[in-house]
Amino acid sequence: MYYNYGYGFDGGYLLWIILMIGCVAFASWAQLAVTTNFRKYSAVRTQNGLTGAQAAQAVLRANGVTGVRFAHIRGSLTDNFNPRTNVISLSDDVYDSTSVAAVGVAAHEAGHAVQYATGYAPIRLRNAIIPACNFGSGLAWPMLLIGLALGATSLMGIGVGLYALATLFQVVTLPVEINASRRAIHALEMEGLLTAQELPMARKTLFAAAMTYAAALATSLVQLLRLVLIFLANGGGRRHD
Ligand SMILES: [Zn+2]
Repeated sequence: MYYNYGYGFDGGYLLWIILMIGCVAFASWAQLAVTTNFRKYSAVRTQNGLTGAQAAQAVLRANGVTGVRFAHIRGSLTDNFNPRTNVISLSDDVYDSTSVAAVGVAAHEAGHAVQYATGYAPIRLRNAIIPACNFGSGLAWPMLLIGLALGATSLMGIGVGLYALATLFQVVTLPVEINASRRAIHALEMEGLLTAQELPMARKTLFAAAMTYAAALATSLVQLLRLVLIFLANGGGRRHD
């Protein structure tokens, strides 16, 4: 049996390959920038000797947020905020470290806690759609392939729709991440926690992290394009009258 995977579709497949190469390059660059900047600014001690955990606490205090607990987490750059337990988990490189990178990362996680505490809408939306998005990303390809095998364009359409749902998660995640970093930098600046020389270093560390989310979004969009191309090349969207 032969399926048209969109290879001949108006050069669509060639376009897709070029876009995908671009995405892989972008994602690799962002990942490299994250590790390079984190390593570089992990070697720079904050002038006031503030640790990552203390910086996060200061960001929470500056925003009037109370009740958030702290925990250690293994690994590198595994730092996160869990809204269900209201716990900020900081990795060993961050928790007790007095580096500018540690302060930046910890303040970013505190930024997420502030987002929840203040009812920032995009993060609520993000959490509300997580189950549907996981469901969508798991079932999109199987649905598309079953639709192809059965020649059922409606099933293929559902597959495309499910992938679009998974992409929506990345669409919402990017502004949430950028906003957490903006809150972090703003608080570090307003509270005088970092000096004018240290702030740009923290900003660079967090900017690189945001770029990894931008790369994930770009990759998801290009993958969605591939599903759409396969859908169209196999009779999807064609009028039946
Ligand atoms: Zn984040």
